[in-house]
Amino acid sequence: MRRGYDFAIAGGGVIGASIAFHLAELSDASVALFDRGKVCSGGTRRSCAIIRSHYSVASNTALTLRSLDVFRGFREALGEDDVASGFVNSGYLILAGPGAFADRLADNLARQRGLGADTSPIDPAEARELHPWLDLGDVAAIGWEPASGYADPVTTTLGYVTAARRRGVAVFEHAPVERLRLAPDGGTSASRVTGVTTPGGTVEARCVVSAVGPWTRGLYAHSGLSDAAVEALRLQVTRHVVLTFGGASPYGPELPIVKDLTVDNKMYFRPAARGVVLVGTGDFGDPLEDPDRMNAVAPRDLVSLQRAQIAARMPAFEGARLTDSWMGPYDITPDWNPVLGPAPGLPGLYLAYGFSGHGFKLAPAVGRCVAQSLLGEAPDIDLAPYRPQRFREEALLLGAYGGGSIS
Ligand SMILES: Cc1cc2nc3c(=O)[nH]c(=O)nc-3n(C[C@H](O)[C@H](O)[C@H](O)COP(=O)(O)OP(=O)(O)OC[C@H]3O[C@@H](n4cnc5c(N)ncnc54)[C@H](O)[C@@H]3O)c2cc1C
Repeated sequence: MRRGYDFAIAGGGVIGASIAFHLAELSDASVALFDRGKVCSGGTRRSCAIIRSHYSVASNTALTLRSLDVFRGFREALGEDDVASGFVNSGYLILAGPGAFADRLADNLARQRGLGADTSPIDPAEARELHPWLDLGDVAAIGWEPASGYADPVTTTLGYVTAARRRGVAVFEHAPVERLRLAPDGGTSASRVTGVTTPGGTVEARCVVSAVGPWTRGLYAHSGLSDAAVEALRLQVTRHVVLTFGGASPYGPELPIVKDLTVDNKMYFRPAARGVVLVGTGDFGDPLEDPDRMNAVAPRDLVSLQRAQIAARMPAFEGARLTDSWMGPYDITPDWNPVLGPAPGLPGLYLAYGFSGHGFKLAPAVGRCVAQSLLGEAPDIDLAPYRPQRFREEALLLGAYGGGSIS
């Protein structure tokens, strides 16, 4: 292992991998990417990988529209023949019941069209043509995004890692960043980050990028940073459960994704392999002290609730059988949006965490814009709204639907 790089990136999930690729694509800088396990062994591996533009925060829509182009033309975007995002262009339906959410949905659709999204309100008859399995009797407003879909989180991340390696990025697996290396900042009592400590030794870096998602608090704590610094991250980690159900007949891969704002847990569902429906929630989930200590059993009451909700929305799933379940961590910030920018009071460290359950779809554009910022260029999309200081400035990026990954 070399002892010095321009950039050392901790975390080989989709965010760290995309940043690494874009740094190498845009510059001659030397870059090292470290993951404590295999790359893509964290939250990204468990992602449902839905890509939609429906957001009420304008910068999120801008990032996702740019990213959607990349998912659709992944090989061309990465300049590699043997990579795949696995993108399926199923389209995306969003349903709201009568009341405030229906109004907000209509407003959002109009706002998004203004930002260039291909999205429109449709009526239940049109929605049933697109998705004949749906019972829409209780639905007051429906939005439709024909260009959206879902992808494969693992092949996407490995695509970025492959392309990064070919551009000279040194990728270290089973190489945890044990600590950020801190040194006095110019003879003052303040510190700056000068590199990372791994089991293989110390690596100096002009800039360290922390992209360890749900493990960000732990990295700070293990680096000896104060409790106040850890708390200032404003990061909570929760467990999210994904279930798959099989019905009487196979659920086709071409059926649109559905986001259902009529239910409290803001359920979403989409086709999955072998003709089952994958069902997740857009709510807070179960608080986790430690992302490495996640109970891997799906709670029975959640299974019953999701089975009932899915059967209410699609009567063909009455009595559906549970075919699989898995869990993954959400790294949630107070406004359910990521933190991107230089760490306040810690020169030499750039933060990229807190994607709050919706970071997969943002990763291509986030990686490019972060890399541009790190290289001193103006990013294609302004990242200032995501600055770490926004929580204490009370400049939160709040979405129209309250707390949740559809911010
Ligand atoms: C169940 C579930 C469903 C989701 N569904 C969607 C969806 O449909 N659409 C969407 O857009 N988003 C979705 N998300 C969110 C999305 O997957 C995440 O926001 C995104 O994958 C986060 O990527 P990341 O790189 O920040 O984090 P991670 O993928 O968690 O990567 C962090 C990496 O850091 C590594 N690491 C940890 N500590 C260290 C250390 N000390 N040193 C080195 N490496 C370390 C880990 O091994 C890991 O590989 C979902 C998430 C979950 C959990």
